[in-house]
Amino acid sequence: MVGQTRVVLLQGDITEQDTQAIVNAANSRLAGGGGVDGAIHRAGGPAIMAQCDEIRARQGGCPTGQAVLTTGGRLKAQYVIHTVGPIWRGGDHNEDQLLASAYQSSLRLALQHGIKSVAFPSISTGAYGFPLERAAAVAVRAVEGFLLEQPLQEVRWVLFSQRDFQAYLRAWQERGYQQGKNVE
Ligand code: ADP
Repeated sequence: MVGQTRVVLLQGDITEQDTQAIVNAANSRLAGGGGVDGAIHRAGGPAIMAQCDEIRARQGGCPTGQAVLTTGGRLKAQYVIHTVGPIWRGGDHNEDQLLASAYQSSLRLALQHGIKSVAFPSISTGAYGFPLERAAAVAVRAVEGFLLEQPLQEVRWVLFSQRDFQAYLRAWQERGYQQGKNVE
């Protein structure tokens, strides 16, 4: 537990999760793409892109560090939270703050919609090139800070590879949490 929130780390596919929402590592045009974005649109079907199109028509997309909500379509998850992480540009272009903001905006949007459980992928560490260990440390700190103020029922990280899983587990351990005790 992190405050009142259950935190779970697992290696797997985010499109299969039964949390109320899953988070997509989207691009700012909400245009779909490869990686986790492509996987979510494929698994959830066209209803997700139809709502992304509406959001794009209304507000032009989603700025880096912010988040928008759509249906989950055919996914088990009722909603998809699309957030836009920063593209890595060497580390001195506000990347850490923008990544923290992507996580916190996603959680804030979840709370605003009464969503109680959320699954995250490793935002920005694929095509966007953010170094894994640094991203994990930033992500964990941002989410921990948020949850200690505003709890949800469950936050889950769904890491595609063993290496990603180990990085996020280590980042929690470095914050003083223990697997099997505070994080599952
Ligand atoms: P970004 O553009 O934000 O870097 P990517 O989708 O390229 O996003 O990568 C983010 C992470 O998501 C990578 O670690 C990638 O391996 C992972 N990933 C890709 N597909 C899935 C999936 N189905 N479930 C969970 N993680 C995934």
